[in-house]
Amino acid sequence: MRKYVNQKEKNLQKIVCNKCGKEIILENGIAKEEVFHGEARWGYFSEKDGEIHSFDLCEECYDQWIKTFAVGVTVENTNELI
Ligand SMILES: [Zn+2]
Repeated sequence: MRKYVNQKEKNLQKIVCNKCGKEIILENGIAKEEVFHGEARWGYFSEKDGEIHSFDLCEECYDQWIKTFAVGVTVENTNELI
């Protein structure tokens, strides 16, 4: 869940893990730890036509979540280290 100081300019005020409620530390509007952000734009063939759902998960909750998948996630390595 993301809260913005200014909704239009998308200045982040707060990120909270939707699963455990942990607040992700921000520094100058930038998350100090990695967060999974999911978004689904439901369309005509769903029962949520026109709804946009979004959520954030801390890394721990993400790891727990993907362990429940019948088919594991695709993992690729990137050389882009920030
Ligand atoms: Zn969490």
